[in-house]
Order: sequence, then C-alpha cells, then structure tokens
Amino acid sequence: MKTQLIGDIVIDRIVEAEGAFADFGFILPGATQDLVDANADWLAPRFIAPDGKLIMAFHALVLRTPRRTILVDCCVGNDKDRPLRPTWHRQQTPFLDTMRAAGVAPEEIDIVMCTHLHADHVGWNTQLVDGRWVPTFPNARYVFARREYEFWEAEARRAKAEGMQEPPNHGSFDDSVLPVMEAGRAVLVEADHELDHGVWLEPAFGHTPGNVNVNVRGGGRHALLCGDTMHTPLQLCDPGLSSAFCEDPAMSARSRTAMIERLADTESILLAGHFPTPVAGRIVRHREAFRLDTGD
Ligand SMILES: [Zn+2]
Repeated sequence: MKTQLIGDIVIDRIVEAEGAFADFGFILPGATQDLVDANADWLAPRFIAPDGKLIMAFHALVLRTPRRTILVDCCVGNDKDRPLRPTWHRQQTPFLDTMRAAGVAPEEIDIVMCTHLHADHVGWNTQLVDGRWVPTFPNARYVFARREYEFWEAEARRAKAEGMQEPPNHGSFDDSVLPVMEAGRAVLVEADHELDHGVWLEPAFGHTPGNVNVNVRGGGRHALLCGDTMHTPLQLCDPGLSSAFCEDPAMSARSRTAMIERLADTESILLAGHFPTPVAGRIVRHREAFRLDTGD
C-alpha cells in the first residue's frame, strides 16, 4: 500500500501475511460462481485467483498524527495456540521487524485500537515472554469498544462455566485481550469515541456486536478504516453478502450496505482489514452495484 496522507495524518500498512487463503464460498457462503464470473473483469486476478480463492491479507494500519502514533488492528500474532486454524497455530512472522522497517518502533505506539476482538485482529496485542502473555506495546493504551469487550468477556466466562472443549474465538480473549486488561492498560470506550483530532470511531455493528470503523479526516481528505465490515472487494458486487464469521449476518449486511452507499462516488479512501495490495481504493458505482477503484 502506498503511504496515505490524510492532511497531516500519515497512514502506513504493516503486513503480517498475504495470499490466496480460502475459497470465496468459505468466506462468503452466499456468493455464487455466476456473481464471480460476471465481475471477473475487475476482480481477477488481483482480488480472486483463477481457482476461486480470494486473495486476502492480514495487516495492521499505523496512523501517525502530529500528536500520536495509533495502531489499528493487530493481526494473528506469534506463538498463539490456534489448533483449529493450522496456518495461525503458533505462527512465527517478523511482524515487529516489518513495523520497525516502516519506521515505527513498538515503543512509539501510543494507542492500540482493535476494530473488533476476533482472533485475527488482537494477536499482536500481546507477546509471549517467559511463558506469560504481556502487552507488546509497552507505552500504549489499548482502546476497546465497551460493547465489544463485554460481549467477548461474557462469551469467555460462559465457555469456562460450561466447560466447553473449544473456547470461543480460538481462545483469543484469554491470551490477547484479558492480559492487557489485567495489566491495567485497557480503556473501554463508546462506539463513537474520538481517538485524536480527526480520528474517530463509528459503530458498524453486526460482524461482531461492538464492531467499529475508524474515520480519519484532514486537509479536505477522508479515509475509512473499516476492519471486517467488508472482507473482500467481492462484497461490492452484492453488499448484502455477509461473511461466514459475522455474528449477526443481517445486521452486518445493513452496516456494510450503509457504509458502501455513503462512500460511493466520493473521494473517501477505503482501507479494509483484509483487502490485498494495493488495499486503498475508492468505491464507485458499477453496473447494478459497486466496484473498487484503486486508481491504477
Ligand atoms: Zn478479520
């Protein structure tokens, strides 16, 4: 992704992984081959491979404002026990070195913001040190939407009370969220919280109960960091298609459709949580729906 300049706010991407990971039907159970074929002229090969696998990425976005350095979303992380997801299980990636190479030291992060608390957005919140999970970013406060935190806290508690074999959300609350809270580093906020001048949250409930987008505005420009409100550009062909991972697919569809309608044919830059290179694009109306215009 090219560095995005939104007024005096600089946005860079830190990639953990990128590739053709899953069939489109695994991510979007409601999508049809006909829909893919009808839009192959702009989806392939950048967003969907010839074998039908979606090209996806796992990345964090770093916002450098004149006052603060803000990390949005924390990928899968290293060393996490994720036996149900072999590619994530005790993964080892050079994510922190990638971040340093982008000119951002972990010590410089002032705020960590997770758009939602799924396992692939909280991983680098913590790292394994001497057998314990400790906050990765020593000087950061970690901002979670209160509604999101309380949902997953209750889910984790219920799973323990019921002695569930498989913990919800791959057990990520216990290894990547709770240690941050117990270290006194978490701040619970409302879903319209302002992180800094020109950087604020908006509710986009549905993918998860407290899912939020992050707005960035400055110098007459606007970007929306939408996390998993949309997983793949294929959803622009039918905004009503929710992912297999949406807690409330109908509500997720409403949040996504409203977001797409609002941004369509404007100059706003969309920066989604799993879009592959070049990530950044504008939503434009196309045929009966929309497409992503990446400007190249
Ligand atoms: Zn995700």
